[in-house]
Amino acid sequence: MKVLELINVNKDYKLANKENFRALHDVNVAFEKGELVSIIGESGSGKSTLMNLIGGLDSSYDGIINIDGKDLKSFKDKQLDDYRKKKIGFVFQSFNLIPHLSVLDNVTIGLTLSNEKESVKLQKATTLLTKLGLKDQIKKKPTQLSGGQKQRVAIARALINDPDIILADEPTGALDSGTTSQILSILKEIADDGKLVIMVTHSEKVASISSRIVEIADGRIVRDSKKKNYKKTQVHDKLVEEQTDIPQKKKEGHLSFFSAFRLSLHNMWAGKVKNLLMAFGVSIALVSMILMLSFGSGLTSYISSMADEYSRPDIVTISNTKGTFSDEDISSLVEELNTHLKTQGNSFKIINSNDENKNLSYGIMLPPMQALVNLTYTKTDGTTASEPAMVTYTVPPYYDEKDFASKETGYLCGEDEIMVSSTILKKLEVDNADDAVGKEITLNLTYTNGSTQISITKTVKISAIIDNSMMTILYVDYDYLNKCIKDYQEANNLEITGMQPSSLYISTDGENTTNLINSYIKENKPELAGSVEEQLAGMFGELMNTFSIALTVISGIALFVALIMILVVLYMSVAERTKEIGVLKSIGARKKDIRLIFSSESFLVGLLSGIVSIILALIFGGIFTIVFNSLLGFAPISMEIQYFAIALLISVIISVLAGLYPSSKAAKLDPVESLRRE
Ligand code: ADP
Ligand code: MG
Repeated sequence: MKVLELINVNKDYKLANKENFRALHDVNVAFEKGELVSIIGESGSGKSTLMNLIGGLDSSYDGIINIDGKDLKSFKDKQLDDYRKKKIGFVFQSFNLIPHLSVLDNVTIGLTLSNEKESVKLQKATTLLTKLGLKDQIKKKPTQLSGGQKQRVAIARALINDPDIILADEPTGALDSGTTSQILSILKEIADDGKLVIMVTHSEKVASISSRIVEIADGRIVRDSKKKNYKKTQVHDKLVEEQTDIPQKKKEGHLSFFSAFRLSLHNMWAGKVKNLLMAFGVSIALVSMILMLSFGSGLTSYISSMADEYSRPDIVTISNTKGTFSDEDISSLVEELNTHLKTQGNSFKIINSNDENKNLSYGIMLPPMQALVNLTYTKTDGTTASEPAMVTYTVPPYYDEKDFASKETGYLCGEDEIMVSSTILKKLEVDNADDAVGKEITLNLTYTNGSTQISITKTVKISAIIDNSMMTILYVDYDYLNKCIKDYQEANNLEITGMQPSSLYISTDGENTTNLINSYIKENKPELAGSVEEQLAGMFGELMNTFSIALTVISGIALFVALIMILVVLYMSVAERTKEIGVLKSIGARKKDIRLIFSSESFLVGLLSGIVSIILALIFGGIFTIVFNSLLGFAPISMEIQYFAIALLISVIISVLAGLYPSSKAAKLDPVESLRRE
């Protein structure tokens, strides 16, 4: 029975100069089951070309190739893939085993592409490998095998689907003579077992064992001789069992997601150093993104917690973010606000006079560039310690006893008194903060007021400790500070000017009025910050803006670099695995399967990068938290689970995007070209 028949087959290769090169001329030949055919001929005579046509790897030819009487040309892509998977088994000169897969996985790859059950795969492969004398090599990688062993693995791979035709292109070309005869007897056994074995060989000696010799010269069959006295070896133990247990109309399985992931994992493990380095590269973008987001939210929640703490419904805080308020500024603002309140039907009136009805008070914040403040404390043992204060505040009216670290003894400071933050005491090495309350401390203040410099040295008493662990802060009474400045100006014959406030506090009759004033300020006075939140937000606003710009720029650039990096790595992976792709296609992998393998690899690359990023972000976040806590006493960093989720998602998305081109490139590779590649 003719299993394979070629009728007037011609094959032309298109050359670069648009000319055609005819590699096969009018080939007419037919083969039957049980034949062991040797194809001989000089190098370049067209042997491999013929094998590729028969194997369904190359579909561009003229003439007819019939398989079991069916024209190969009429096969659709899917049928052709099935044909390679089920009907044909390829054996190559250079073995073409997949290096990162074990012997077992190499042998069962054809079954994996059909989504065969693991137990069936294992059973079939073990039986086959045992018969081929490779029982103990199942778990090894191809590189750990000798040439003869590798070729036997390749034969097992070709046989696993019980094909009718075995195509072996110079299967012994890379083997020594001892191993050659071993492989030849296996091939003979397969043929005698009832399959058609077509092998290409250079050696007449190899050809001599076959049942038929077909010689090709310059693309033409010049000899076709059958051996009359060919002796079939009696096969006792068939290499491949007849597949009787498999139901006829079994639904055709395809490479599963799970198997594709498994194959990709093996490949990634083989290049683990490369992949890990790449993941580190990608993580630069994602770690900085996670950290920036965490800083942003840490700062925001810190600000709002501070604001919550200091917000009082009956106090309006108006801060001049650009400088200070002159007397005229204040009186015109008060008038404006009073008019507004009146038009809104609100009876509250801001009073800025020196009588007891006064409900407007002043405040100032002296930053380090405006006022250098130094505190010198004499401890019980007589030693002294000095410490500068970062910021000097006048006591805002919303401060009350709940803000004191030392509740029993603390009270708001007045003349010749100050309050300090607990951080200062810590720096002054005062062990028990409560002890410091009531103690004397030397205040040294150098203050630049307009063009004159004022230097005040006073011995004052600590009236309370404010439990504000953020910075080294000093609090003084506004009127007291103003008086000190005026005293200094008088003593030094300077023009008496006093201070100008940077904050105004209005004690209102309740939340309604407070809100009315706050919203008026917000809408009409952009240079003024109304609520405490706004004031704080103003303080941190610039920092936050810088953060978000840095976040966008850094992440954007880094993500783009990451995308290119992943693209390059995956692209190189395709280039490295060209041969493997050719092998997979010869075994019957569909374009879809190849794409799935490479897409799953890009997905895994993204997952790996994301996980590495999360781990690094956690480590860096932890370090930052420790550093900030020891420097500032608080850490404006709040790592939220959704940032990690976002990072992971972005990582996977950019990897999958970056993988689109390489995987479609892999899927489109011409199997003949890929297999020709050395
Ligand atoms: P061999 O008998 O050594 O296996 P091949 O079948 O590989 O020979 O090649 C037959 C002829 O076809 C050679 O002359 C070769 O140069 C040519 N050939 C093979 N592949 C291509 C190709 N892709 N493009 C052009 N010419 C090719
Ligand atoms: Mg060849």
